[in-house]
Amino acid sequence: MKASLLKITSVVLGAAREFLAREGFVELLPVILAPVTDPLRHSPDRALIMAYGGKWHLTRSMIFHKQAAVRVCPRIFCFSPNIRLEPADWGRTGRHLFEFVQLDLEVRAANREEVMTLAERLLLFVLQRVEEECSQELAQLGRRLPPLSPPFPRITYREAQDKYGEEFEEALSHTATTPVWLVDFPLQVREFYDREDPSRPGTLLDMDLIYPEGFGEALSGGEREHRPERIRKRILAQGLPLEAYRSLLSLAEEGLPPSAGFGIGIERLVRFIAGVSHVGEVRLFPRVPGELSQL
Ligand code: AMP
Ligand code: MG
Repeated sequence: MKASLLKITSVVLGAAREFLAREGFVELLPVILAPVTDPLRHSPDRALIMAYGGKWHLTRSMIFHKQAAVRVCPRIFCFSPNIRLEPADWGRTGRHLFEFVQLDLEVRAANREEVMTLAERLLLFVLQRVEEECSQELAQLGRRLPPLSPPFPRITYREAQDKYGEEFEEALSHTATTPVWLVDFPLQVREFYDREDPSRPGTLLDMDLIYPEGFGEALSGGEREHRPERIRKRILAQGLPLEAYRSLLSLAEEGLPPSAGFGIGIERLVRFIAGVSHVGEVRLFPRVPGELSQL
C-alpha cells in the first residue's frame, strides 16, 4: 500500500515537472527559511528560528519569493516544503499536515483565466500519466478516478454560500463529480496579496479548485497585488504590522511585476488520485498536527 502511494507520488512529481518544463517554466530550489513569510491569518502559530542575530520563519508558502522571482524569469515553479503549525485537532481532518509540499508556480503578466487553464491542463496531464504508469498501483488501491473534462464548472464564493450555507466547501466537494472552481472570494476572507478586481471593489481575482468526492480543496491562487501603495493599504486594513512586511514593501517600491499563480498541495493531490482517507498516508514520514514521530 505505502509503496503504491510512493510510486504514484513519484510519477506525479515527474509528470508535473515534465509538463511545466514543456510550458517554458524554470524550477526554483525551495526556500526553507525567510525573514518574511505568508501571513496566513487562520494559522496564528509561527515556526521561527534565531540565527546570525536575525529572526527566520520556516516557510509557510513561497508567495513573496514567487512575486520576486518573476522579476528574473517570467514563468517559475517550485516544489516547496511548507511548515504550518496547524491546530492539533486538524490532524483528524484528513487534509492537514504540519509539513507538506506545494507545487507553487507563478507567471509574470498573466491573468486569472490563464493560470486556471494552465491548472486544468496540468491536472489532466498528471492524471493521464498516472493512469498510464500506475495502473497496477491504482488497481491495488481499488481506485477508479473520476473522468476529468476541462473546463471545470465554476461557482462564485457568494453563490456557493447561498446554495450550501457556511460549510459550502465541504458540501460542494461532496456533491461534485468533477473538480469545481470556486472564484471571487470577498477581500476580507483572504490574505493581502490577492488582487482586488478593479471593476468590483471588495471582490478578489482569485480562485480555489475543489476536488470532487469529498476530497476538499486542491489549490488556491489568483492574480497578485504588486503596487506598493495598495499592498500597504491592505496590510493595514487587516490589522497587520507594516514593520513585519517592510522588506516586501521595499521590493514592491523597487518594482514588482504583475503576476498570477497558484499552489497545489502534492499530498492532497496524491490522496485524491489514490482515493485514500488521510494525507498522512501519502508520506513515509508524515507530520500530522498533534502527533509526535519517531523518525
Ligand atoms: P494555501 O495557500 O493555504 O491555499 O495552500 C495551498 C495548497 O496547499 C492548498 O490548496 C492545499 O492543497 C495545500 N495545503 C494547505 N495547507 C495544507 C496542510 N496543512 N496540509 C496539507 N496540504 C495543505
Ligand atoms: Mg487555500
